[in-house]
Amino acid sequence: MKADIVIIGAGIVGSTIARELSRYDLNIIVVEKNSDIAFGSPTKANTGIIHAGYDDKPGTVKAMLCSKGNALWHKIAREVAAPFKEIGSFVVALKEEDMSILKELKERGEKNGVPELEIIEDGEELLEREPNLNEEAIAALHAPTTAITSPYELSIAMAENAMENGANILLDTEVTGVMVKKREVKSVQTSKGRIKTDYVVNAAGLQADEVSAMAGIDRFIIHPRKGEYYVFDKELNGFVQHILFPVPTPISKGVVVTPTVDDNILIGPNAHDIKGKNDSATTSRSLDEVFSGALRLIPKLAEKKNMMIANFCGLRPEPDTKDFILESYDAVRGFVNAAGIKSPGLTAAPAVAQTVTVLLRKLGLELKEKDGFSALRKPIDRSVRRFDIERAKWLIARDPTWGHVVCRCERVTEGEVLEAIRRGATTLDGIKFRTRAGMGRCQGGFCTPHIIKILARELGISVQDVTKRGGNSRLLPYKVKELLLRAGLDDSERANKDDPRS
Ligand SMILES: Cc1cc2nc3c(=O)[nH]c(=O)nc-3n(C[C@H](O)[C@H](O)[C@H](O)COP(=O)(O)OP(=O)(O)OC[C@H]3O[C@@H](n4cnc5c(N)ncnc54)[C@H](O)[C@@H]3O)c2cc1C
Repeated sequence: MKADIVIIGAGIVGSTIARELSRYDLNIIVVEKNSDIAFGSPTKANTGIIHAGYDDKPGTVKAMLCSKGNALWHKIAREVAAPFKEIGSFVVALKEEDMSILKELKERGEKNGVPELEIIEDGEELLEREPNLNEEAIAALHAPTTAITSPYELSIAMAENAMENGANILLDTEVTGVMVKKREVKSVQTSKGRIKTDYVVNAAGLQADEVSAMAGIDRFIIHPRKGEYYVFDKELNGFVQHILFPVPTPISKGVVVTPTVDDNILIGPNAHDIKGKNDSATTSRSLDEVFSGALRLIPKLAEKKNMMIANFCGLRPEPDTKDFILESYDAVRGFVNAAGIKSPGLTAAPAVAQTVTVLLRKLGLELKEKDGFSALRKPIDRSVRRFDIERAKWLIARDPTWGHVVCRCERVTEGEVLEAIRRGATTLDGIKFRTRAGMGRCQGGFCTPHIIKILARELGISVQDVTKRGGNSRLLPYKVKELLLRAGLDDSERANKDDPRS
């Protein structure tokens, strides 16, 4: 294979770079080791906040790109029809000592170009705006441009739009080497063969240090920093109306309480440095820490514990340089790092993509705008679940699968699942990220068997070969009855609870 440019990684950063470069007359290949877009830990498991840009120290790359990214998403999210709600945020001060931090954040924000920041020093006004807020709140920094999105839907939307504009994405394909000769990139070695190219962008998230080292640039290390979350049922819709932050700590923005674009409430993340980049376990101890953090902002959540429906964790790719690494190198011409994209990387992604484009242009990549680039993407039709009756009737009359609800909690129809498969989903999580099937109160208890059957039928595979997220994550690895029979166990033995084999 040959490409004008290879992008390594299809998280939010790689997908957004691909979409930005798809404006130009280029043969673009994105290489992703996972089975789908946005399957990497940071992109699939984060808070989904499009930050305003007041947190980061002025002068850092993060600070420059965060407020710029916020402004860009306001336009781009609409173009690609991804979920996006500008609901605004409050950083809440509970004691006098917090006031100096609010003032510092406001100053930082103003230096970073964040519009409309104000400190509200009136507890009553805060309670009017956010009725369930801790009554001890004395002030808050209000940032009206802070927004929420769905990080995986946004990434998928960007990747789909890039593909509509000609980019190619190779899934289940791992980059194992970057070939450099006479200080110039020549090709990328993957688990499925070699791709000749003169330009490579490393957007490999948690593994960006390893990929960079493949090209001979080994001057930074990425450490995983875990953050855990609880999700509350959407029955609590409206209980919290803004994104609520505590005053930040030196290592994180603290445990946030926020609505999601799908009307759930999300609390988290905490922040713990860990060793393994594949550690996706949550622990009750850490989740307790998250819950008590959230109670400081919304004490009434204590009465809503029975509304928690899920927990999960994400790993931040923390570079030892402490800032985003957006660089090209004389020693390896054609290689660009978009590495160390920790928080606020989701927010900054479109600004990162523009910066990478400038670096590539400087390196000599010819960027000729192509005719027919379309910034617009059509989302999967959600009329049925939104009770848009006329449109739903029309869809069902054309194709009855749009009238077959497979996920009751989120009211997802078979028509949506089929459309998700048509757009590239091959796994249960791929369907979930595109349609929300399995993300409601029963967490897939009802819809999982239906979706497994649909996936098997449409992909022409057996139900045992359907996976949760690709690789060896098969959902039904064994036919249990057959196994039991083969082991010589009959029903009475299986019913015997004292028998360890049952
Ligand atoms: C707990 C948490 C909360 C956060 N909250 C926010 C927030 O609210 N707002 C915000 O702006 N940011 C937030 N962030 C930060 C944001 O999530 C990240 O900055 C962003 O997701 C990084 O995206 P990425 O594309 O660089 O990395 P990734 O998502 O890791 O994508 C990299 C991709 O590269 C692939 N890859 C790696 N190695 C190879 C290889 N050798 N070959 C092929 N493919 C490879 C991986 O499989 C992966 O899919 C948060 C992060 C975490 C973890």
